This record gives sequence, C-alpha cells and structure tokens, in this order.
Amino acid sequence: MAKSGYLREIDRLGRVVIPKQYRKEMNIPEEGGEVLLTCKNGVVTVSKSAEVCIFCRSRRKLSDFKGRPVCAKCLDEIKSGSDEYLPEDEINTAAAE
Ligand SMILES: [Zn+2]
Repeated sequence: MAKSGYLREIDRLGRVVIPKQYRKEMNIPEEGGEVLLTCKNGVVTVSKSAEVCIFCRSRRKLSDFKGRPVCAKCLDEIKSGSDEYLPEDEINTAAAE
C-alpha cells in the first residue's frame, strides 16, 4: 500500500524529480534553484534552502530585486550601471527584446 504522495523513479544517477505541484508550493524555480536535502531516521527531507544572492550566492543583507534575492553589494553594482553580473536569464530576456 502506497503512502499518500507521489511515487517517483530514481534515475541511474540517483536523481528524483520533485513534483511540479510541490515546487510551486515551495516557490522553487524551475531551474537554478537550490534545495536542502537532509536524512534522518531513514527519511530524506527536501527543504527550501535559505535564500542567496542570485549573483554571488551571499546570504548577507539580501533585498528583493525584481522578485529575486540580491545582496547589498551586488545591488550597489547594479545601481552604478554595471551589467557585468547580469544573471543568465536576464541576459536572455534582454537579448530577446
Ligand atoms: Zn551578491
């Protein structure tokens, strides 16, 4: 008898897909997000990891920039006009316009 939840096959590299519904509920991006895996008493838990800056991965002094976490240092660089640290999806968006 299956427990409630999703039954998922593990691929040859040990990967398991987190159901889309769960990713949506946890607000995990489709790609590039990060989760924290822990194992205790034979149960693996997937948790949303602490937010990090999308540019430098710092966890310090984060603020929201267009819905994404950005640290104060990177935010200063953005405000000063540097485009050196545009995340890849922002570059693609800019190129498509
Ligand atoms: Zn940063």
